Amino acid sequence: MRLTAKLWIAFHTLACFGTQAEALTQPPKLVVVVVIDQLRSDQLPRWSKSFLPPRGKSGTPGGFRYLMEEGAYFPLAQFQHLQGLTAVGHATIMTGAYPYQHHIILNEWIDRETGEVIQAPSDDRFPIVGDAKGYTVKGISPKNVGGTTIVDELKNSGYQSKAVAISLKERSAVLLGGHRADLALWFNKESPSWVSSRYYLPKGELPDWVKAINEPLKAKHDAILHWEADGDESGTSLPDNRHLEKKYPLDEIGIEFPHSTKAGSRHSVLFPFGVQITTDMSIAALDAMNLGRGPHTDFLAVSYSSHDSVAHTFGTNSRELEFLAEFEDKMLSKLFTSIEQKVGLKNTLIVLTSDHGASPLTEYLQDVKVPAGRINEEKILKACEEIMVKNYGKPKQGSWMLGFTDLNFYLNHKALRAAGLNMVDVRKKLGQEVRMQANIMDSIQYAFTGEDVRERSLPPGMFADQILKTYVEGRSGDIIFIPKPYHVYTKIPTVHVTGYSYDRFVPLMMAGPGIKAGRYGMMVNVVDVAPTLSFLMGTIPPSGSEGRILSEALKDGSKQP
Ligand SMILES: [Zn+2]
Repeated sequence: MRLTAKLWIAFHTLACFGTQAEALTQPPKLVVVVVIDQLRSDQLPRWSKSFLPPRGKSGTPGGFRYLMEEGAYFPLAQFQHLQGLTAVGHATIMTGAYPYQHHIILNEWIDRETGEVIQAPSDDRFPIVGDAKGYTVKGISPKNVGGTTIVDELKNSGYQSKAVAISLKERSAVLLGGHRADLALWFNKESPSWVSSRYYLPKGELPDWVKAINEPLKAKHDAILHWEADGDESGTSLPDNRHLEKKYPLDEIGIEFPHSTKAGSRHSVLFPFGVQITTDMSIAALDAMNLGRGPHTDFLAVSYSSHDSVAHTFGTNSRELEFLAEFEDKMLSKLFTSIEQKVGLKNTLIVLTSDHGASPLTEYLQDVKVPAGRINEEKILKACEEIMVKNYGKPKQGSWMLGFTDLNFYLNHKALRAAGLNMVDVRKKLGQEVRMQANIMDSIQYAFTGEDVRERSLPPGMFADQILKTYVEGRSGDIIFIPKPYHVYTKIPTVHVTGYSYDRFVPLMMAGPGIKAGRYGMMVNVVDVAPTLSFLMGTIPPSGSEGRILSEALKDGSKQP
């Protein structure tokens, strides 16, 4: 009799575990990855009082606070690469790898043989599909990404999953999608309309549902967009944009609120309009592609670019950025409400993070006595050329230095070969001599060359780690400069291009099935997103994934052994 009871309990326990384990190992019907471009870690806490509550009166989900309060919220997630840039961040999120493996080291780099500037997603073989008016890049694909992404491995596992990526910027859409996305859509400001490439659409035709969205958008080309200051303010933003007045005149749209522009202008994406059309397109994709209602996990990736554009134009401490975030919050709520109605939030795993942070305006920092400055890249290029001419004379053709992008400076390798010069010797000498130039090094923390990387002659601590996780011979510059903290180059008001805290810390939030709600007080790495999603989807992590599963944020039963 006792034995029977014991057996019964054992069977009952097994049965219970069986049911629970089954529920917990059920992959979500839909995974949604949202990236807010340039959303720095401190921004959500600063502005959260103005955001919608986690749930409205009728139970409708809010935006940021739905994720912060009903999901797992890691305020301090970090990137560990050297250059905090859009393409690098997006590739890192989806590959779970560092740039030395996924090879997207910058937004663009220079071909050392031809001098041509190569955009991270450029691929001449796959022309733009849709209205390519004003487009300078010949074609677009993810071919420059090394290794696989979360979406690639989901599909490699044989699941009949659909995946779509949407962003105003092509680099964000393409890099979020990876090699096996069914569709990536991005926005051509000039037309203005959504476009894609033949990589996704080999017949060269946009789907009818995309055309249907484009028609009214194109008709709106000359419509005036108006942006007023409205909503609650946190009191943490600067009262005006006077730091911009002299250096960065914004005659076209106005330096202070209210701002206005045309829907077909290059400034249109700065306006809430950019957030609105990204949301509308995401909801349209959800409907048209029937996402979350197929046999296996579907994937929607959305990157909001306007946040980055507004911060670059008005600064990270501007009222414009704060008001835009309030609008983003409303649009996220609209997206989540649509998901709730069509798929159910209980079936949907939502992840929100960012691709990088940014430095506040240099002129503001200088005003408040924080050491800050601007770097003139042209001056560095000229100094490098002068060193080369002093050492080797003038090249037979052109110049020794090909150019620069984001503090990466490139040598003319054709000219080096023509002159019979050895690349190793040239780079070593150039590095040594540049480091002696006080007028350049006053704003530079370290300058290193490819030879320093090979010989592991690197600066200490986080810099060595960031360099090794980033450098790719042939794509990275021959000589690279790490600025002093809060020293940015001159082109635009706000810049992000380093591995310092202000460029590398972003929020990370996950909500949905299997996620344990809470605010997590530990530093995590953005490369942890990919293996965590892979675990919850029942796939293997992407090929170069080096992160860990964020098991502290998973419900019991999802714990790692
Ligand atoms: Zn940016």
